[in-house]
Amino acid sequence: MIDTHAHIFLPDFSEDVASMIERAKEQGIRHILMPAINPESVAQMEMIAERNAGNNDIYLHPMIGLHPCDVHEQIPMWGEHRWAQKLENWLNEYASLDHYIGIGETGLDYYWSTEYKKEQMLSLDMHFELAKSVNKPIVLHNRESTHDLLKAIARHQNGSIKGVWHCFNGTYEEGMQAIDLGFHLGIGGVVTFKNAGVAEVVRQLPIDKLILETDSPYLSPTPLRGKRNEPAHLAFIQKKLGELFELSQEEVEEQTDLTATSLFSL
Ligand SMILES: [Zn+2]
Repeated sequence: MIDTHAHIFLPDFSEDVASMIERAKEQGIRHILMPAINPESVAQMEMIAERNAGNNDIYLHPMIGLHPCDVHEQIPMWGEHRWAQKLENWLNEYASLDHYIGIGETGLDYYWSTEYKKEQMLSLDMHFELAKSVNKPIVLHNRESTHDLLKAIARHQNGSIKGVWHCFNGTYEEGMQAIDLGFHLGIGGVVTFKNAGVAEVVRQLPIDKLILETDSPYLSPTPLRGKRNEPAHLAFIQKKLGELFELSQEEVEEQTDLTATSLFSL
């Protein structure tokens, strides 16, 4: 199994990072993809990746990006007039390193605040340009910003952009629009929630465009909902997909692993 989205470098894991990775390995996870959030967390991400470097049972892969929810906090730190240049410099420092397998996480989030809409979009545009120039997949976050996000993908898609709409929880139409624009959809714990409506949408989508993710430490799947999430919980999501598509867990694993491996060149 491949957990395509896990923030295991956050302080939530500082007490038990080694045993958490061990539990993931025991559950059959072979790759954990780590989307960056902000400059502060990158040092921790690098350290975890480096410490795990000799481990041939489970691979940890960093990405580089500024989370849309961090845009408003990062701007004052970098300075109102210089933040765009600083962001570009920071992204460029990591983006072409071989072990950085993707650009993200970026995207739009209008749920917490719409005050920085313009800046979020500018940041997203920069991530798209970078993904094109280094030819790596981009990882997108969306919350109450679907219309703008789909427009941004369409605007940037020149035939070379690939990536994932992570933690997908939109409608069937929205999912298919993203797929038609060359994107994959990341399916996480929300698919296991009763009444979320996501399961009904997911079962209609083409399975070869779906990849699995936990979004650790957030969004723990049922029956662990509300607890800290970790990559070892990915199996609950895989099992749910098996039910939705009437496939065995092994078949789901084979398909989603293949898709993730090819998307992220693992
Ligand atoms: Zn995330």
